[in-house]
Amino acid sequence: MNMNEYDVIVVGASNAGGMAACAAAEKGAKVLVIDKMNSTGFLYRLSIAAVGTKAQKKAGIEIDKYKLINYLSAFAQDNVDQKLLWKWVNNSAETVDWLEDNVLKPHGSHLYAQPDAEYHTLINTAFPTEHDVTNDKHEDVFYGKWVVEKAKELGAEFLWQTKLEHLITENGVVTGVVTKNTKTSEVKKFRAKKGVIICTGGYGSNEALMAKWNPLGLKKNVYSDSPRDDGSGQVAALEIGAWRDEEPAEIIFDRGSVPVGTNTNEYYVKSWEDVGYFWMGSYPLLKLNLNGERVGNESAPYEFDMNRATKQPGYLQVAIWNDATMDNLQKFHTLGCARLNWPGFYNTEENKQEIATRIKEGFIQKASTIEELAEKLNLPVENLKASVNTYNKMCAEGEDTQFGKEDFRLLPIKEGAFYGAVYGGRLLATLDGLRVNTKMQVLNKAGEAIPHLYAAGNASGGFFWGSYPDHVPGLTCSHAQTFGRLAGQQAACNN
Ligand SMILES: Cc1cc2nc3c(=O)[nH]c(=O)nc-3n(C[C@H](O)[C@H](O)[C@H](O)COP(=O)(O)OP(=O)(O)OC[C@H]3O[C@@H](n4cnc5c(N)ncnc54)[C@H](O)[C@@H]3O)c2cc1C
Repeated sequence: MNMNEYDVIVVGASNAGGMAACAAAEKGAKVLVIDKMNSTGFLYRLSIAAVGTKAQKKAGIEIDKYKLINYLSAFAQDNVDQKLLWKWVNNSAETVDWLEDNVLKPHGSHLYAQPDAEYHTLINTAFPTEHDVTNDKHEDVFYGKWVVEKAKELGAEFLWQTKLEHLITENGVVTGVVTKNTKTSEVKKFRAKKGVIICTGGYGSNEALMAKWNPLGLKKNVYSDSPRDDGSGQVAALEIGAWRDEEPAEIIFDRGSVPVGTNTNEYYVKSWEDVGYFWMGSYPLLKLNLNGERVGNESAPYEFDMNRATKQPGYLQVAIWNDATMDNLQKFHTLGCARLNWPGFYNTEENKQEIATRIKEGFIQKASTIEELAEKLNLPVENLKASVNTYNKMCAEGEDTQFGKEDFRLLPIKEGAFYGAVYGGRLLATLDGLRVNTKMQVLNKAGEAIPHLYAAGNASGGFFWGSYPDHVPGLTCSHAQTFGRLAGQQAACNN
């Protein structure tokens, strides 16, 4: 075997790629992993979904697979490949158990499964799929570098700052990759005898691709939190005839505060940095349009806030709260990463600190009267006063007669200080991608597998449509890790 020849080449070293590399190497394949950046450890996520893991059994959690898959497929109005959903639900536990046994436990860490993470109202149906990567001190444990170490221990080689430019084919079979060094621009070719696995993530920071594949996403999002997502892996597969999803799918946080007067057509910040972060955006606060009018039930999956805003002028929302809200956040009983206190990410004090920082930066407004708040937020004062008064009346009566929000989530906004934030979406990742079958083989437009080409994670499609079902927490990470593992195993078995 010459130096540039491998069995399996994995493109992208994050959740999907790291797991693909480990799985292929475990099967005895000679594996090369390339990534255009020089590290990926921090991209391995702390909340991972699965069904039927050892951690869930220990916590007494049982999830009805039929109910869950029917929910996921209904959430996407069946614009998904149900076979892929079943492939995930039946393989997620093996993947997550492998991670815990082979990567976390040797480092004194483990998975905590959340037994109480359920809601049963129709709009807020939630499943306790989430596992948090933690240790005995309940700290967040960043394990990505251990996955990379494990892949190396299993024999995989890593080349950083090495970007996939094109795929090489011979007689319709994918046989290798053309790469460019992102520092030196040196172009190289690598041969893959058994397969190439595309694990290059989404395209949310490539505005030209967003305009083509997800134009509304450019309007409802004001931040792209995955700045390296340029879609280049997907484009390389399209060049050789791959088929991709025809409608967008995305994971959006309703946590992107912006200065008053922001035009979403001109504001799209692509950064890892903590710009404008407004964690409380995902709490069911009183939320209004830019005319100061309440337009829907705020108690819903994160992304629905931003979907609702697309039917309103300006594509943004305004959240309103007061000091008393800050002291009663636990009453909202938020779940997933918006859960207050461990195993959520923020506590009341951290929320207060974030608000204080954003006020200083001009992203959040504070006022001692509603009139002053209306002026600072540039909202029609009479509309804001009417919306707050009506809301307070419903809170006092314990019934949201406008839109039916759950009564335990009705917190009045009576005395100052009053706060308000204009906010839009934070695009965490795009989720539409290359069409794959249940062996993770990339399909051509006739629905046939392109020999020796695989995809997993956000570079692959068929699994999500439209909004992300965040009430199945950890699903994107698990989708990437589970399908990455399956792709690695499949590719390693080729002749
Ligand atoms: C702030 C934040 C928090 C999140 N938290 C969670 C969570 O807790 N749970 C959850 O389920 N999901 C979470 N997500 C979503 C989750 O991170 C993604 O769904 C997941 O990372 C997808 O993994 P992936 O391997 O498919 O792609 P990515 O993680 O996007 O990785 C793709 C890799 O490919 C590399 N690459 C791209 N193009 C090329 C190329 N041409 N050549 C070589 N390399 C290339 C990139 O450098 C990158 O390292 C979060 C996202 C964000 C932004």
